[in-house]
Amino acid sequence: MGKIVNCAEVDPRSGCAHVVRGANEEELLRNAEQHAKEHGIVEATPELMQRVKQAMRDE
Ligand SMILES: [Zn+2]
Repeated sequence: MGKIVNCAEVDPRSGCAHVVRGANEEELLRNAEQHAKEHGIVEATPELMQRVKQAMRDE
């Protein structure tokens, strides 16, 4: 089952409507890290990844 996470759920201040998808948790975290760069976040901190994990759910 795929995983999805709404960017706005990870960071409500972003006002971003992007939905990050992945075939599994590992892939989603990779894609989220990639997407974070579009917000100027160069380094995905453990804290950020934790927020992504909390916001992610099954597709
Ligand atoms: Zn975003």
